[in-house]
Order: sequence, then C-alpha cells, then structure tokens
Amino acid sequence: MTPVVALVGRPNVGKSTLFNRLTRTRDALVADFPGLTRDRKYGQAKLGELEFIVVDTGGIDGTEEGIELKMAEQSLQAIEEADVVLFMVDARAGLTAADQAIAEHLRKAQKKVFLVANKTDGIDGDSAVSEFYSLALGEVYQIAAAHGRGVLSLLELSLAPHLETLVDEDDAQEEEEEDFDEEALLRMVAAGDLDTREDTKETPFADLPIKFAIVGRPNVGKSTLTNRMLGEDRVIVYDMPGTTRDSIYIPMERDEQKYVIIDTAGVRRRGKVHETVEKFSVIKTLKAIEDANVCLLVIDARETITDQDLSILGFVLNTGRSVVLVVNKWDGLDTEVKTTVKNELDRRLGFIDFARVHFISALHGSGVGHLFESIQEAYQSATRRTSTAMLTRIMQMAQEDHQPPMVNGRRVKLKYAHAGGYNPPRIVIHGNQLNDLPDSYKRYLINYFRKSLKIMGTPIRVEFQESV
Ligand code: GDP
Ligand code: GDP
Repeated sequence: MTPVVALVGRPNVGKSTLFNRLTRTRDALVADFPGLTRDRKYGQAKLGELEFIVVDTGGIDGTEEGIELKMAEQSLQAIEEADVVLFMVDARAGLTAADQAIAEHLRKAQKKVFLVANKTDGIDGDSAVSEFYSLALGEVYQIAAAHGRGVLSLLELSLAPHLETLVDEDDAQEEEEEDFDEEALLRMVAAGDLDTREDTKETPFADLPIKFAIVGRPNVGKSTLTNRMLGEDRVIVYDMPGTTRDSIYIPMERDEQKYVIIDTAGVRRRGKVHETVEKFSVIKTLKAIEDANVCLLVIDARETITDQDLSILGFVLNTGRSVVLVVNKWDGLDTEVKTTVKNELDRRLGFIDFARVHFISALHGSGVGHLFESIQEAYQSATRRTSTAMLTRIMQMAQEDHQPPMVNGRRVKLKYAHAGGYNPPRIVIHGNQLNDLPDSYKRYLINYFRKSLKIMGTPIRVEFQESV
C-alpha cells in the first residue's frame, strides 16, 4: 500500500513550497477539494522506486476555536490518516507558541514525526534551530525548501528508509493473509516479461477476482450503488466500518466471475441512508484507487461536473487504473436536461474518450447490470497479453497508413514494438530519431493501437527507445 505523508505547520513556514518540490518529481497532479478543506492539496510523489501520497494540510496553528476549529478539522483528519508527519517550522521566525501547540497535538497523536526547520538559507542553521530541540520531537532537520537544500538528504536518508519499512511490513502482512498469492505472483512476473508467443485473448489473471472501487464525491450515490450491485438478496450491514482511512472489501460473484468491491462509502444500514456513518475521506479514495483494478467514477447527473470530480479522475488516470464513468441519478430527468448533461460530459470529459459511460439509476437499478460488462472489458483490456509480432505488425500498419514526418531530411523510423507491462498496458517502440517524433504522431500511434487491439477503459502508455 502507498504510504501517506502529511505536511503540517503553521501558515507561511513553507509547506506549499516543499509540497511542490516533492510532487514535481512526477507530473504533479494536485487535487484541490474546495468546500471540504481550507486549502488542502494532495499529490503523488516518487523517490526512486518508492511512491507516496503527499498531503499539504493547509495552515493550522493548533489554537483554533469555534469556526476555525471546524476548518482545521480536515487538517487534523489528514494527520490521523497519515503514516508520517513532516512538521515544518520556520528557522528564521524562531520557535512560536503556535509551534508548541502543534507539537503538543502531534505528541498526542502518536505519529512518526520528522521535525523540519525550513528557510535555513543564508543564516547560521545550527544556532537558529537549536531552540526547536525543546519541542522534544527528536532531531531537527535543516532544509531550505525554496532552494532544495537539505531536502534530498532528508528524503533519502531519513524519510524513505522509514517509509520502506512501512511498505515492507504491509507486504509481509499481506503475504500471510493471502494463500493464492504465490502462483498468481509468478504468473504476473511472467506476464510482465517480453512475450513472443502467439497473441492470445486470454488474460493471465483469469481466475483472480477483479477488484473494483466505487469512487466519487460525497452524496453522488456510491453506497446506494454498492448495495445495488451486491444484489437484492444480499443485505450487507456494517455497524462498524473500518477506520476512516480504510475501505471495506466485499467479495461477490456474478456470472461465475469473482469480484471484490472496494467500498469507499461504507455501506449504510438499509432504509437509513441518511444516517451518515463516516466522513468522506480523500485519502481513503486515493488508496482505494491505487488498490483497484478498475475504478467506477460516480458522477451526479443532477449536479454539474465539479473540479473535485476531475481531480478524482486525474488520480485514477495518473495511477494508470482502468476507469468506467457512471452518471448516476438518471431517473426522472426530462429529455432537455439529459441532453444538457450529455453535452457537458462531452465538453469536460471528452479527453477520456476511451472510457465507457453509463447512465444509471442506482436507486431504481436501471442500467446497473451492464456495469459489469464494462468492468470486465476494462480489466481484460488492461491485463491481456499481446505478442511482439502482433504489436510490431500493428505499428507497421500505422506507419503505412500515415508516415512519420521527415526531420532534417531524414525520416523518423519505427522498427519494432513489444509489450513493456500491463495494468496499464505499456508498449515500447524502438526506432531511430524517435526524440523528433511530434506529439501528434504519438497520439496517432496510441489511438491506432487502441483501435486495433480494441482496448477500452484503460489508458495506454507508449514509450520510445532509440535503437543503437
Ligand atoms: P505555507 O503557508 O506553509 O504553505 O508556506 P509557503 O510555501 O507558501 O511559503 C511561505 C513563504 O516562505 C513564501 O514567500 C516562500 O517563498 C518562502 N519560503 C519557502 N521556503 C523558503 C526557504 O527555503 N527559504 C526562504 N528564504 N524562504 C522560503
Ligand atoms: P454516497 O455519499 O456517494 O454514498 O451517496 P448515497 O448512496 O448515500 O446517496 C446520496 C443520496 O442520493 C441519497 O439520498 C440517495 O437516496 C440518493 N440517490 C442515490 N442514487 C440515486 C439515484 O439513482 N437516483 C436518485 N434520484 N437518487 C439517488
């Protein structure tokens, strides 16, 4: 599971600056969730092989009361949900009462905390940070986020090793819990290898359950849909959902295919839908996306597409997961409204033309059965193996239909293609002068592969390697 790192500290100490530095390592996809938070931001960061989620909690100073406290609550929730907290202080401003209040809170939360003194550029760091040792949070790491100084050593020497132990522990636990694992793992390794056999439609994961997550903003109908997909005869009631950061995993079977629903909403007691059991949690949503094979992104037809919908979609795509778009609450809308909604979808979500769109009513059940077809299709598209011969042939056909451009009097040449991995499918193309290939031609190739292989629901990644 991907670890979560929260940036905490009073306003103006440099949290956003550090956040940007951390997430820039991988095209940062920053999710702002207006309405839920002050200005909390979520991003994905990568350090070598290690990936983690970074949360900028927005400014809290630990002394909030009344309405301010309400606003700080989301920040406090982020601390609860984080594996590690980077507590930032300002080396130039020195120790403040607010720093002390936050430290007090963090000590109670019993989290692994790294105390980070920022803005140590151009000052005598050692003497400036000495007073922060009185916070009794251990070592004080000196950085200058704006210039990058000290950041890499903080990450590589201290944070990364700690996160790795968390991930390892998690993996070890999972190994103990699952018994089908070893064989499946071997097969996955085999599937990732260069495959020169004949093309086959069979997926190497045929007997594994398909894990799909039902994600979306609060109130779009996620729990109603979960109940509906589970079926009338299976009344699932959880009085005690997991902790705020954990989704509930519900196994189910349909037409002899096994599934696991990753339920981020927490299935509510029947007939008491309004009794909200738990708060919407962004981190829970992100973790569910990472853990799923396919994500059902639920959108409310009665509301316009919001930035929040787009942020969640952005995370799904950035993580390389397959996606099915579910426009819910399609019941009782008149034709005019339906047309408006469809136009709005085309305008704002047209860029993921590879995703199936379903118009459903979770409440009445209409359209829900067909979701399983798209889930299977997306899963198979993402995991199916394709031979080098087949990929190379498709690449040649694309080239014959539409030649790559000339650069400096020489034509860019594509030589051969092979699979580079699955889930999402990666295709590696070898050739000459590939750096000169314009983006428009890359998009053309991706579309050509998509159409030829009938890949739906999943992003495709194409990589280019210069032949020597
Ligand atoms: P936040 O409110 O905690 O998110 O703080 P910001 O990241 O917005 O930074 C607040 C101010 O501190 C900005 O003007 C930054 O340019 C400045 N700042 C951030 N990091 C550094 C640093 O390493 N050195 C110096 N001198 N200024 C910094
Ligand atoms: P969640 O927060 O995303 O889990 O949303 P819920 O499943 O709790 O649904 C929020 C509200 O929308 C509830 O009042 C549901 O009855 C209502 N709702 C859910 N699905 C539909 C639907 O298909 N049509 C209509 N009209 N209302 C729905």
